[in-house]
Amino acid sequence: MTTALVTGANKGIGLEIVKKLVDQGLTVYLGARDPEKGEKAAAEVGATFVQLDVTDPESIRRAAAGLERLDVLVNNAGITGGRLNAPGDADVPTIREVFDTNVFGVIALTDALLPLLRKSEHGRIVNVSSTVGSLAGIPTSQSPPSLAYVPSKTALNAVTVLYAKAEPGLRVNAACPGYCATDLNNHAGYRTAEQGATSAVRLATLADDGPTGGFFDEDGPVAW
Ligand code: NAP
Repeated sequence: MTTALVTGANKGIGLEIVKKLVDQGLTVYLGARDPEKGEKAAAEVGATFVQLDVTDPESIRRAAAGLERLDVLVNNAGITGGRLNAPGDADVPTIREVFDTNVFGVIALTDALLPLLRKSEHGRIVNVSSTVGSLAGIPTSQSPPSLAYVPSKTALNAVTVLYAKAEPGLRVNAACPGYCATDLNNHAGYRTAEQGATSAVRLATLADDGPTGGFFDEDGPVAW
């Protein structure tokens, strides 16, 4: 039986990732920072709630200590920081908060769970990133020029490659969900959260000879 943990999964793309993994027969831990929201979502989709704030070391320690095995980690929790943070108008504390969740939280949680993932015969890590962080695309990107969100995803892509290099026994990849209507963008996206979950689920359930250290959306590899 394969066991998965998805962070930031009480709503949006994370919740849809959990649903799809449960449908495929996995035992899924639904990570959420708010116990009320997390318990409710987990009960609705047949997952087990785990309290997990990726910016809180004690929450990470408790969550890791409560797991006996883990095959799949999906680092999905993410924030934008709200205000634009365009060049010339940067609010550095907000940028730090965004990096805390989108980058440092991923590193802290992944390191805490690596001992379990290494024991798995089919260990997978999926980092939910975004093509807005693709360096190749930034010069012509139509996305808001946020100094918080955009570079946090660029950094997450680098983090993904470093874990893939360091852990050849695992498959470690970044997934882009596409522009999905969720609370993150006040439901401005043109895809559904369910559609957005597809690329992460595919990478979470990759065959043992599947790629590692890559960046993919639903249609295949994405430029760095
Ligand atoms: P969402 O609906 O706003 O969901 C974000 C989730 O992350 C929520 O469950 C939120 O919990 C959780 N979260 C935030 N900070 C957290 C923390 N410190 N610890 C644990 N959980 C935390 O957004 P979404 O669109 O589904 O985004 C999911 C991922 O997809 C993010 O990484 C985002 O960057 C990425 N993405 C989204 C799009 C898009 O178009 N939507 C495009 C590309 C990439 P609360 O409910 O408690 O706030």
